[in-house]
Parts: sequence; structure tokens; C-alpha cells
Amino acid sequence: MSSVRIADAFDPIAIAEAAQVIRDGGLVAFPTETVYGLGADAENPVAVARIFEAKRRPLIDPLIVHVADAESARRYGTLPAAALPLCDRFWPGPLTLVAAKSPPVPAIVTAGLDTVAIRVPAHPAALALIRAAGRAVAAPSANLFGRVSPTEAGHVAEQLGGAVDLILDGGPSAVGVESTILSFEGGRPVVLRAGGTPPEELQAVLGPVGIEVGTAFRPSVPGQMKRHYSTRTPLEVAASGARPEASCARIGLLTLTPAADASKYAAIEVLSPSGDLREAAANLYRALHRLDALGLERIVALPVPEEGLGLAIMDRLRRAAAS
Ligand code: AMP
Ligand code: MG
Repeated sequence: MSSVRIADAFDPIAIAEAAQVIRDGGLVAFPTETVYGLGADAENPVAVARIFEAKRRPLIDPLIVHVADAESARRYGTLPAAALPLCDRFWPGPLTLVAAKSPPVPAIVTAGLDTVAIRVPAHPAALALIRAAGRAVAAPSANLFGRVSPTEAGHVAEQLGGAVDLILDGGPSAVGVESTILSFEGGRPVVLRAGGTPPEELQAVLGPVGIEVGTAFRPSVPGQMKRHYSTRTPLEVAASGARPEASCARIGLLTLTPAADASKYAAIEVLSPSGDLREAAANLYRALHRLDALGLERIVALPVPEEGLGLAIMDRLRRAAAS
């Protein structure tokens, strides 16, 4: 792997340099509160094509356009009136809204769809980069397509290395799973991807919200592909209450809270000692990266409660386990 330069995301000089890379059509990996993003100038189709190349991502998989505030979002898409209270309440934050696409967004960003996914990330370095670049930044997660998403600069360097012009290191991602994607297709709100904003919080603002996560394959949402977010080590999700059998010498365990029989496993990752699902989401991908690096025979994940961020965690684990 060729080496890549990693700079401090909190250094204004590094931000200015990263912004120049974006304006020049290059690729910058940058921290967000969800996961690390691989960013390019959202209005430059050639720069955006480099994202697909670096990630080996199919061109049918549209990207999220990152803007600094709701006002800037208006250049790129038109949101339905019902979505506007969500911008006030959840932006900056882990909520992506699907809007009607406007002309400045090249077709490669939306994979030819007439809708565009937009969000305002809640990370000071991400916002500083977007503002300094003076334009929207299109960015998917900064990993190889289908693999575990990066929540640290080191994860990006491992998977993408020399394909990126610059990595901004802003420390571990606070939320740790991707944004929730909400669409108003057909006039009613529908969650297309479970993520960092729990559906319960959307319901508190909107009333009933449909959840179409993993119910149907939608070519427009490859984050909904049956197999995604995968470790190279085979992963299985244990049935509720079940424990993997005794001969666990080559098995790693992923568990929400400490397990009584931990010593039976080659390695164990506890997502949250107190069982807090927010903390668990923040630790999920780091734990998967660590277990995956050990060359184990298998990773067994114990299920977590499907409420709050538990919905996004179980969604990711099931897709990682799918064959
Ligand atoms: P990533 O940032 O790698 O998690 O990928 C972005 C996700 O946003 C993908 O799963 C896309 O399918 C989804 N997405 C992007 N644009 C749209 C859109 N216009 N409608 C629905 N989903 C979208
Ligand atoms: Mg991704």
C-alpha cells in the first residue's frame, strides 16, 4: 500500500490545504460524527468519479451531499415542506434527507436518480472543510465498498491508503454508525436506512414514520444490500439467548455487555459495559475492525435490543452476516 498523508483535523492550516485539494478535484477523507467520509467537490463529476474508483463502488450507488447548513442545502435540492422542521431539529446531525435534485448536482452523484440525499454533518472539522472549500462535499463512507466502515483515521489509511490525497484525523467518530436516511417519497416519511438518528426521535416530530429497512431491495439504497458492512472473517449473529458452543479457540465474541463465559473465546469485544446503545454504536465498527484483524475462524455477535440505536446496530450486524 502506498503511504498517505494524515493531518490534524483541528489544525486550520490542514483544513485550508484540504479545502484546496477539494477545489482542485482531489479526494479528502475527513471525520464526521457518524463515520469517516471520502469527500470530493459535489459539483465536479470527474472528482466524484474518483470516489467510486477509490472505493470500488458501483456507479448505481448514489452519494450523500454534505453541506454546512440548511440554507446551503437549497442550492442542491428542494425538500418537501414536511421535512423543514427536521432541518431545524436534527441538523447538524446524523440525519440524511432525500430531496428533489437541483441542476448543480451532477448525475454521477445521484446515480441518475432525480432525488439527492443531503445532510449537515455535526463535526467541527467537517463543517470547517465544507465552508473553506466553498461548496458542497459529496462523500460516502471512506472504506472499500461492502466492508466495515471507518470510525478512525487509521481505518481509512488501511483500506484506501494511497487512493486518497489527504486524510484529516479528527479522532474516533462519536456516533459510530452511518446517518439515518429519511425519504418523503409518495408524500409520507419513510426511513430507508436505520442510523444515528433513532426513528423514535423522528416520530416525536413527524408523527408516524414508515420503516422500510431491509424489507425490500431498493437499487437506490445499496446501504440496504443484503450483504454489506462485512468483515473478511465470517460473522454470524447468535439467536437471542443462544451461546456459541464450547470449542471457541478460534472464535471472537462481540457482545453488548460483558459475558460470563468470556474466557472461552479467542477474543472478546464489549460494546458498552453498562449496556448503553449509543455507546455501543460508537464502538461497533472499531470492535469489528479489531476482531477482523486477528485472523479468527469466525466472529459471533450476540444480538442487542432493537430500540433506539439498537435498530441500526442490528441492521449492520445482519448485513455483515449475510452471504
Ligand atoms: P454511504 O455514505 O456509503 O453510507 O452511502 C450513502 C447511502 O445513501 C447509500 O446507501 C445510498 O444509496 C443512499 N442514498 C444516496 N442518495 C440517495 C437517494 N437519492 N435516495 C435514496 N437513498 C440515497
Ligand atoms: Mg458506506
